[in-house]
Amino acid sequence: MAVTPVAPASTPLQDAQVQLRRAGDFLGYPPGIMAMLATARRELTVSIPLRRDNGDYELLTGHRVQHNLSRGPAKGGLRYSPDVTLDEVRALAMWMTWKCALLDVPFGGAKGGVRVDPRSYSKRELERLTRRYTSEILPLVGPDRDIPAPDIGTDEQTMAWYMDTYSVSQGHTVLSCVTGKPVGLGGSLGRSSATSEGVVHVALEALRHVGCAPGGTAAVQGFGKVGRDTVRLLAEAGMHVVGVSDQYGAVHSSAGIAFDDLDRHVQRTGSVVGFAQSEPIDHSTLLALNVDLLVPAAVEGVLNAANAHAVRARVVVEGANGPTTPDADDLLNSRGVLVVPDILANAGGVVVSYFEWVQGNQAYWWSVREVEDRLRERMLKTWQDVLAFSNGHGIPLRDAATTMAVRQVAEAHRMRGLYP
Ligand code: NAD
Repeated sequence: MAVTPVAPASTPLQDAQVQLRRAGDFLGYPPGIMAMLATARRELTVSIPLRRDNGDYELLTGHRVQHNLSRGPAKGGLRYSPDVTLDEVRALAMWMTWKCALLDVPFGGAKGGVRVDPRSYSKRELERLTRRYTSEILPLVGPDRDIPAPDIGTDEQTMAWYMDTYSVSQGHTVLSCVTGKPVGLGGSLGRSSATSEGVVHVALEALRHVGCAPGGTAAVQGFGKVGRDTVRLLAEAGMHVVGVSDQYGAVHSSAGIAFDDLDRHVQRTGSVVGFAQSEPIDHSTLLALNVDLLVPAAVEGVLNAANAHAVRARVVVEGANGPTTPDADDLLNSRGVLVVPDILANAGGVVVSYFEWVQGNQAYWWSVREVEDRLRERMLKTWQDVLAFSNGHGIPLRDAATTMAVRQVAEAHRMRGLYP
């Protein structure tokens, strides 16, 4: 069933605030505590003068938001996208706070963003932009203060430039100032696929939980750092990925899409569009495919009040941050679709970022086996904990996960004596 895509009626920040309010209501927190939990501790907006390769100058805008610091240094990705706004960064920073608390990673939440379309800039321009952004946010960041990582539009190379710029500012190499670095530069084995590994661990558990037979069908929205490895790992787990999309379009094959062939096509053309062994479908059709599992792994708000009624998947596992609006959550819940929330589902990235930070601090590196085993253990334990809380209190997984995380953060404030 094709559905006309409609922009969500709410913004990511409004969605994050609604999710927090539901947790606060459950926990019975007073308005003062809620205001503290809802508000970022620190926000920095910076201007980034950029010299283009042709000699022209441009002025870009960037942000770094530290939502909460009660459980440790701030942690969160750096996004390059034309859609970046301060409010979006605030929402993403808040979700990072809950994610770190839920997974018991000793960090607070942060996020950074630059309003820029990285596809329109050369590699040298992106390097200059990254170095200048890093220099501008130096007053806030550092290995014990705030540690960025890749997100939409950034990658290992971006993190290497960040690490170099930060290190030059300090006069010595500081490996743990950023995670998601190349393995040859203090990165962790297993980091690049960690988010997708985590997504697939919880997806397989969730499918088992709702009684789907092994080897079922899946659709994945997004074929970037998270979506690509999710498609690969789902196929390796025996699932048939029948639909994949990126920002340019979507493709479908009822026989299942062969990962290696699709990956070669994307390497060659830059998009899933035109993949020979498939038929083209539109974005909204991908979200409405009749599959066991739907993994939105692209941007916020893609499942909203206008299209949630059309979702036919049995389970939605949020590879992206904030892909489901609260309205859509209610619709999906009422129709019996199990939604595994972002702060649990895509936490593999921050878990292995934590492992990378630990390894960098100790200057001692773990084997890929150690990284993957510890990641799997933490993801499965958290899945079990959230499921038990959800069942025990008769609330959806998102409310359970957010409530557990918010309580952890509020407890940290209480123990530190910030409120009686
Ligand atoms: P990326 O830039 O590597 O890839 C994004 C992908 O989404 C691309 O394939 C792009 O074409 C596609 N896309 C963008 N808009 C789309 C649309 N409207 N419809 C379909 N596809 C669209 O980014 P990423 O790192 O894979 O991040 C994707 C999501 O996962 C984001 O929400 C991010 O915050 C979240 N996330 C990423 C990580 C990580 O480790 N990279 C960790 C946790 C969560």
